[in-house]
Amino acid sequence: MYIGSMISVSKGYEAMGKQALKLGANTMAFFTRNPRGGRARDIDEEDIHNFLKLAKENHFGTLVAHASYTMNLCAARPEIQKFAKEAFADDLKRMEYIPGNYYNFHPGSHVGQGAEQAIPLIADAMNECIRAEQTTIVLLETMAGKGSEIGQSFEELKQIIDLIKPELLDKVGVCFDTCHTWDAGYDIVGNLDGVLTDFDKLIGLDKLKAVHLNNSANERGSHKDRHETIENGKIEIAAFKRIINHPVLKQLPFILETPNDDDGWKKEIKMLRELQK
Ligand code: FE
Ligand code: FE
Ligand code: ZN
Repeated sequence: MYIGSMISVSKGYEAMGKQALKLGANTMAFFTRNPRGGRARDIDEEDIHNFLKLAKENHFGTLVAHASYTMNLCAARPEIQKFAKEAFADDLKRMEYIPGNYYNFHPGSHVGQGAEQAIPLIADAMNECIRAEQTTIVLLETMAGKGSEIGQSFEELKQIIDLIKPELLDKVGVCFDTCHTWDAGYDIVGNLDGVLTDFDKLIGLDKLKAVHLNNSANERGSHKDRHETIENGKIEIAAFKRIINHPVLKQLPFILETPNDDDGWKKEIKMLRELQK
């Protein structure tokens, strides 16, 4: 099982890898730049070399990097859109220093324009910034539908993917966030198979690349997006057991974005490994 958490240290890749190991993780998530936006740190080739060695020696699974929350590819204002596209393209360039991993991003918020306007903007930005030669796979995250978020339904994600140039399609996938899909109204507790069948019919399970494993503080369909720890929240433990052992999901990287300190993540990782059949 590949499991890890969002790594909070940002002193370099090797430091992040060591931190992941301390938590008992064999994959990890990290922000490519400050989560609220801003500059990315400089690339340090020696640090990267040391990290890649550590990841190989410890049999790490695919990493799931996270774009900054503020990156909105479908912003209404052109200058914000341009800024987002620059960050997106720059992040993808940097990701190639750690080849073959995932880069997850929030599709965006339409901020009043409506989904019909926003969806082509997201797809255009992806078509502009993703390169056919890159090794990184870009993941659209399933969203809770808070505010004007795009991506709270599999239909919306499909609409974006349908606009991607055919030669870039194998560089695009989806990250399934359990808090978000629950908050969006999908019954991952009572009908996980049904939800995955819907996903398959619309998008195709071959596009499902990673899972953000989070509990939710709110009822299904709340659209609130408040993460909870695995043991405290509206999604029962038995549902997490089914998720991590599901034949369609079990080989994917599971990333915890639960409200924890390092000790909490260490315990959650241990507990989830014990729930593995
Ligand atoms: Fe996210
Ligand atoms: Fe997430
Ligand atoms: Zn969230």
